[in-house]
Amino acid sequence: MCPDRTDRTAARNGTPLRVAVVGSGPSGVYAAQGLAGERGVTVDVLDRLPCPYGLVRYGVAPDHEKIKSLQNNLRQVLEQPGVRFLGNIEVGPGGIGPRDLLRLYDAVVYCVGAATDRTLGIPGEELRGSYSATGFVSWYSGHPDSAPDGFPLAARSAVVIGVGNVAVDVTRVLARAREELRPTDVPQDVLERLADSRVRRVTTVGRRGPSQAKFTTKELRELGTLPGTTVRVRADELAADPLCAAPDALSRAAQRNVEVLRGWSAPEGTPEPETGRLIELRFCLRPVEILGDAEGAVRGVRFERMRPDGTGAVTGTGEHEEVPAQLVLRSVGYRGVPLAGLPFDAETGTVPHLAGRVLRDGRVSRGEYVAGWIKRGPTGVIGTNRPCAKETVTSLLADARALAAAPGRTPADPLTVLRYMGLRPVEWSGWLGIEDAETTLGRSLGRSRVKIPARDRLLAAASDALWPT
Ligand code: NAP
Repeated sequence: MCPDRTDRTAARNGTPLRVAVVGSGPSGVYAAQGLAGERGVTVDVLDRLPCPYGLVRYGVAPDHEKIKSLQNNLRQVLEQPGVRFLGNIEVGPGGIGPRDLLRLYDAVVYCVGAATDRTLGIPGEELRGSYSATGFVSWYSGHPDSAPDGFPLAARSAVVIGVGNVAVDVTRVLARAREELRPTDVPQDVLERLADSRVRRVTTVGRRGPSQAKFTTKELRELGTLPGTTVRVRADELAADPLCAAPDALSRAAQRNVEVLRGWSAPEGTPEPETGRLIELRFCLRPVEILGDAEGAVRGVRFERMRPDGTGAVTGTGEHEEVPAQLVLRSVGYRGVPLAGLPFDAETGTVPHLAGRVLRDGRVSRGEYVAGWIKRGPTGVIGTNRPCAKETVTSLLADARALAAAPGRTPADPLTVLRYMGLRPVEWSGWLGIEDAETTLGRSLGRSRVKIPARDRLLAAASDALWPT
């Protein structure tokens, strides 16, 4: 339980506390919000990118404007007194390590998310035309580290492997028309490539039955609203899942999903629509190989048909099916990556912790905390980060007196030290410079604000803050 504010201030004995939050996505900003509400606590929110907001800027799909508007809430926190945004600071090799951070701050909260994708571990994943969905998301979100040459969208058929919300996002973006994406902030190059896309058919495939899909109903329903796009689900695949016929055994969310899927049901062999795009949601197919042609390019995916056992699990039937495709997006979840100098559990892709306190060899590590996906794994919606960050902040504030009393922390301003180390922090004024540059770019293209993907252009836009006169 969270102690009230008076208790926490008493625990700190009025001692000022200087905290670094690493990562400015939702979990980092919620952690900063919880800390900055405390008298005498100052928070620096560090990010390796010059831009704040993490997956809200670089993960939420561009056409999900309502979710993206959460940036306004996050912004209020980063503009709050006692909170300072310091972008373009890499924590780890090439930047500042965890040990050195503890010389600058009384406590450090790592909110670094889950930076990579899970792989399938099947032959053919490396073929030309086979990509992670997270890479595709980074590209259309204008992430500075995404493929500079973009995605080849000459394919006519795409397969998306996985049936979570990311799979639904990439399926929808592949099916969106230029005019629908133009009002969003997608980079101009992305808009043009998507407009030139020849993709006409997207097959999105789950390895278990329709009742076990991970997407949420709101996101699923949206597929049915795309202009010029037909959505289909195979009637035999709905019928093969005993749980679809026993809705009482399902959660309300799964029942709603099944209901929506039934509305798109069509018998096997229904001809493709003559015009527009087709999204086909397939189930009970486990990917076993991504197939290539003689030139090493993707030509399809081989699946094994699975039989649902009525408990949510599936067993192999030994029957196989090939789905032709020239583009494959693997959307089977994100994965945390180790940060040099911090403990890491490779099994779960998370940092071991006790109520947010980092554990080194099973013992609480003084001054180090985690929140968000690197703490609990890549699950949940943005709001899930709020209670997660709150638990961590509660632990930190309970430890505050001991943290503030510890020797070894330099009294110098971390910003001065970071600059002295040769790092080039982008402060809030620099971010505002980036926002202005993106608005100006959009105006010059006859669009609203348009994202700038290239890091050097972002840094140039922030340069007033980088090299103060
Ligand atoms: P996810 O929800 O965990 O879905 C992963 C999908 O990949 C599941 O269908 C899973 O099937 C499948 N999968 C895993 N390993 C597989 C394998 N070896 N072969 C075939 N399929 C495999 O992950 P996500 O879609 O990346 O989403 C991550 C989190 O972000 C989720 O909590 C999601 O809700 C959230 N998110 C939310 C939104 C939104 O609210 N609009 C948008 C994007 C993401 P099994 O179930 O059989 O394992």
